[in-house]
Parts: sequence; C-alpha cells; structure tokens
Amino acid sequence: MPALPSPPSLAAVCAAALLSLSAAASEHAPAAPTKAEAVKETTALEAAPKKAKAPLDATRDPMDALRERLAQKLGASRTPDAGNPNVVRVVSKASAPVAADSHEPAAALEPKRPVARRAAAPAPVRTPVAHAVAGATAHHAAHWDYTGSGGPETWGQLQPEFSKCSTGTRQSPIDIRDGIRVELDPVRFDYQPSAFRVIDNGHTVQVNVAAGNSIEVMGRRYELVQFHFHRPSEERINGKQFDMVVHLVHKDLDGRLAVVAVLLDRGAAQPLIQSVWNNLPLEKGDEVAARTPVNLNDLLPPERQYFTYMGSLTTPPCSEGVLWMVMKQPVPVSAEQIGIFARLYPMNARPIQSASGRLIKESN
Ligand SMILES: [Zn+2]
Repeated sequence: MPALPSPPSLAAVCAAALLSLSAAASEHAPAAPTKAEAVKETTALEAAPKKAKAPLDATRDPMDALRERLAQKLGASRTPDAGNPNVVRVVSKASAPVAADSHEPAAALEPKRPVARRAAAPAPVRTPVAHAVAGATAHHAAHWDYTGSGGPETWGQLQPEFSKCSTGTRQSPIDIRDGIRVELDPVRFDYQPSAFRVIDNGHTVQVNVAAGNSIEVMGRRYELVQFHFHRPSEERINGKQFDMVVHLVHKDLDGRLAVVAVLLDRGAAQPLIQSVWNNLPLEKGDEVAARTPVNLNDLLPPERQYFTYMGSLTTPPCSEGVLWMVMKQPVPVSAEQIGIFARLYPMNARPIQSASGRLIKESN
C-alpha cells in the first residue's frame, strides 16, 4: 500500500477497498482489478469535465460536430443546461451509488465515457446524460445494498465472486457471546498523527489513512489502511447492538486482514469523528483531503480488552479469513454526530450471521 492509496483505491468502496486489500492473497483476486477499474472509470467521469473545460472551449468548432452527433444520439432526453456549465455531474447524486459501486467490468462503462466528456462542450448536457449513464449502468448488473432488491440476502447471487456471502460458514458480523475468557495479549496499537482523506463511497463514509499506522497482534504486524462506519453497529455483544461502529481495517504483508471494531455509544461528542465529518465530501465518490491530521489513538477506548474471532468481510465479496478484534468498551459519540451519519446512511449494517460454533476468545 502506498503512503496514500492511489485515486482508484481512494475511490474504492468499503468492500472494494477490502477486496483490493485481500485480493493478493484471496480467491477474489480477479475481481479486484475489475472493480477498481470500474471505480476508476467513475472517477474519471467525475473529474474529466472540470479538468477539460479550457481545452474544450479552445476547440469549440470541432466539438460542434460531436455535439450534433450527440444530439442525435441523445434525442429527446437532451436538454440544455441552465446551470453552471462547469459543473457536469455525470453521475447524479441519487444514482451515484450505482456507478460508484458498479460491479460490472470497466468495459460496461467505457462507451459512456466519451459521451459524458463531450457533453461538457459548449452546450453541456447535465442531468439527462447523468441519468442515461446511470440508467444504463443500473440495468446491466444489480448492485449490492442494505435494503431492497440488492439486499444482503441476495449478495451471494449478485456475482460469482460474491458467492461466499451465501455459502460461507465463517461470516461476519456475529452476535458475540459465550466467549472463552483467557489472557489475551493486548493489541499493540502503533498509531500516530496521519494525513487522511474522506470519501463517501455509496455504502459508507470511508477514511483512507496515510501509511505509518499499525497494530501488532498474535505476533503479526498489520498496517492500517482505512476505517469506515456502520449504523447501527454490525456486531452485537450478547444480543446488544450499538448506535454505530467503526471498523479499522489493517493488512499485513501477506495480505491478511485484521479489523479492529470500536463500538460507538450515544454520549459525548467524539472529536476525531467530528474532524472526519468536517471533511465529508459534498458528493458521493468525491474525496476530500483533510488539512489537519488525525491521530487514531483518539478513537480508541481507554480500556483495551477485546473479543476476537475469525470471520469475514461484512460486505461483498464476504471473503473469509479476516481476524476480528472487537473492543469491549464502547466509545461515546454524540446524538448530533450520529444524526449526521444517519442523514447519509440510516442503515448500513449487514444482518447477524451464524457463529457456527466458532471459537470466540475474550480478554479478562
Ligand atoms: Zn465495516
């Protein structure tokens, strides 16, 4: 992992980021580039019109011919943009999750890109193109979601790569109970103030963190790559669900994943979360580089006892072999801060999966 992941992985969704992390070592390797590419395409779609403004203006005449062809292609769906011609949202806000998390091969988006880019010419086409692109994308392949037709019960059938979501036997999240109390080595957190970028990836708010943060657990060192949020908490403890949870996703040199879950409970405001919210992008798929660093130590509970078990990604492709460490002590977050996340994601928690007799250990 580079100091800050390159744009495609920055734009990667919750699952895509996890996927790309696990890709090298997992059976899902082929899917990772595909998805990353799809996201990259989306990013290109988003960025191109803004960057391309000057050159397009300079080549107004040649663009006229293109516009003619475009006009024919777009037909009745085309209307002049009454708004700011610099702003061409290729993917509308409402439909962004579809494209931002497109599981189609990049090729599926490819033909749309020139249309979108050229639509930024003198008579820009705004929403109609956005809808055309998103509509075409949406109907190629169902995308996963937390409710509705792409809901969790369908994940395993949406893509061959997602099959573990339905056939896996070591899935997450679980209701954590009946752990065996042992003397677990504490997780050694080696976190330091770090640059970060915030992205709303269509499934959650994700924070990509610069290199230099790691944990050591069971003799292995894992580097922090990103953290993200769920509401309500995905994991339960003896049946109790919390207001939210943060998942701190780490990866070791062999590509193995270790996720630290910090449960969030309603109470006082949480300063680190506030600085993430302060840097929320205005649009899904966009990323905002924060001007001040975060120190992830500020997000950890004072007491460091934890539960640990082997599980999976909680988002497609639901890859297994993920080491989970769920901190026992929740961290307070204010009702207002929960409310801000809820505006974006009222519910983004996968349902509880069967523990299937898995061993759960907990520190005394
Ligand atoms: Zn998560």
